[in-house]
Amino acid sequence: MNKKLRKTIIAGNWKMNMLASDLKAFKDELIPLIPNHKDWCEAVICTPSVLIPPALKAFNETGVGVGAQNMSQHKSGAYTGEISVDQLADIGAEYVIIGHSERREYYGETDISVNEKLLTALDSPVIPIVCVGETLYQRETGVTFELVALQVKIALDGVSEEKLRKVVIAYEPVWAIGTGKTATPEDAEEVCCAIRDVLAGLYSREAADAVSILYGGSMNDKNAVDLLAQPDIDGGLIGGASLKPESFAVIINAAR
Ligand code: PEP
Repeated sequence: MNKKLRKTIIAGNWKMNMLASDLKAFKDELIPLIPNHKDWCEAVICTPSVLIPPALKAFNETGVGVGAQNMSQHKSGAYTGEISVDQLADIGAEYVIIGHSERREYYGETDISVNEKLLTALDSPVIPIVCVGETLYQRETGVTFELVALQVKIALDGVSEEKLRKVVIAYEPVWAIGTGKTATPEDAEEVCCAIRDVLAGLYSREAADAVSILYGGSMNDKNAVDLLAQPDIDGGLIGGASLKPESFAVIINAAR
């Protein structure tokens, strides 16, 4: 399938950074650098949840969407401190990151909770970006493909082919996140292509070909062009470089 038929997504993950007072300056610098970006990609910034309303206000009519970095697996109820996907939809979040490796590592998220969150997200208008990826130890022991296939299969347990159309997958090798070490375009492509084959095995080739698969892990203004040129890489999930309007703009333009 021609990758141009899939949605290209450049998603920033601001993690626990930025304040409401930073938004205007960020927007004022970014927007003039990405004219007509809607012609070739969806640009979205996943902010801390408290920043979603002011970010939506700041990016109003700029074509840049706003998403969240996490959600509860529960629809509603007695879960103090949690935020439901319906609440995210209610305030206007378009995307939600699920199962980021930092959530898996520091907050005990598992493949099972990722699956629960995904099933809940798919009952809402919010588009889930499901993160998978191996640690350095797993890569060095040669289990990357099995491990990533397992993560994808468990995440998608109970997801129908129709609902799969709404799922975005981000391949994020854990050893590349925030480390400055990027997977080579060939290594990233190899795993993204393998993920697509897993999807084809679970569903159909046609369904697999329609899913946007992003790469994440130290993507920046220097390496984005080569990564985004790969046939099975449909965009990026970008941490550090999304905090700098200039670098984020270069990445958005590299997706052209
Ligand atoms: C991320 O947080 O998903 C990420 C890829 O971070 P970085 O770009 O900083 O490696």
